[in-house]
Amino acid sequence: MSTLPSPYLQLEGVGKRFGAFTALHDVQLQIQRGEFVCFLGPSGCGKTTLLRIIAGLEQHGSGRIVQAGTDISSLPPAERDYGIVFQSYALFPNLSIADNVAYGLVNRRQPRAAVAARVNELLTLVGLPGSGGKYPAQMSGGQQQRVALARALATSPGLLLLDEPLSALDAIVRVRLRNEIRALQRQLGVTTIMVTHDQEEAMSVADRIVVMNQGVIEQVGTPLQVYREPATPFVADFVGKASRLQAVAESDGWLRAGALRLPCPAGQGQGLAPGAPVALYLRPEDRIVDHFEADHPGACQGTVRRIEFSGSNCLAEMAVDGLPDQPVQLQFSLNQMDEFGVREGAALRFALRTDRLRVFAAGAA
Ligand code: ATP
Repeated sequence: MSTLPSPYLQLEGVGKRFGAFTALHDVQLQIQRGEFVCFLGPSGCGKTTLLRIIAGLEQHGSGRIVQAGTDISSLPPAERDYGIVFQSYALFPNLSIADNVAYGLVNRRQPRAAVAARVNELLTLVGLPGSGGKYPAQMSGGQQQRVALARALATSPGLLLLDEPLSALDAIVRVRLRNEIRALQRQLGVTTIMVTHDQEEAMSVADRIVVMNQGVIEQVGTPLQVYREPATPFVADFVGKASRLQAVAESDGWLRAGALRLPCPAGQGQGLAPGAPVALYLRPEDRIVDHFEADHPGACQGTVRRIEFSGSNCLAEMAVDGLPDQPVQLQFSLNQMDEFGVREGAALRFALRTDRLRVFAAGAA
């Protein structure tokens, strides 16, 4: 019989209040050794507070934090095993890059030659070989964040904490650096938690995403799980784009949205009473334009109202016949736009991928 490895980091019922305001409610989470986990959520949802509690920079109110089998809940930051990178690079401006990186090592009273060798190794690791003699002011934001990363990794911590490390950087540097952080994390195998409010960033680097809202974990899952199988309407709205349709449950496992009758996907909608209001979520790519049967249950017709371009794709906002005031967004590649004649004002026949619908009781949190 195989047993799951015990988690490297375990949060057990972690809660936090600031006066009368509850910032975190009973957070339960397990992170395996070597995982890259993102805390994702809107501003104020509590993700930074949770990270700071793990780091010991913020006192938790209730619960326990267990790292590598040890309860670290009451340990001061200096006695915990992590490296941290903040949004603002937080380098010492009056110290050279080498001295910044060496800071944690010198504090541990390591021999000078060993420290110098380690600093060189770390600067090479983050793509800045030979920069040790420079000062922070001589480096770009992206380079400073690489130095901050080298400093955080200097003592080979068991846990790497990244608090919005990319949000002060411009878009191109941000994407490059996030890929580099991911590659480095894989290479080192260091268990990593990154806080971000950018869902694309979380989707691109995380093994698992922890979606948070108002101090509560809404869902923990792989990027594909949170995208394809959002556990709550909040996750469906916050991660990726989705059209939200108001519908009503019918008695026979079907759903009625306006004049459309759609089959409820297998495994969803259990316990819905006939007549119960439901919210349906559909991703923009979950449509078929060519090759669908005339009696496809999601078949419909509509008019393109508006087109929004993003890179090699566009989003077409459709007014769907029989679905007044409930626009549906469909995604097309630019080649498909030509192929299917997608332009503003055009009529289009398509089928909604009803197997991909997510169904929630209306009013579900
Ligand atoms: P952001 O992306 O804006 O940093 P966040 O999800 O990281 O948001 P937190 O910084 O964790 O959110 O804050 C969670 C909530 O707790 C917010 O409503 C915030 O105003 C509140 N909060 C955080 N720190 C304090 C504090 N020291 N005193 C009072 N309230 C606080």
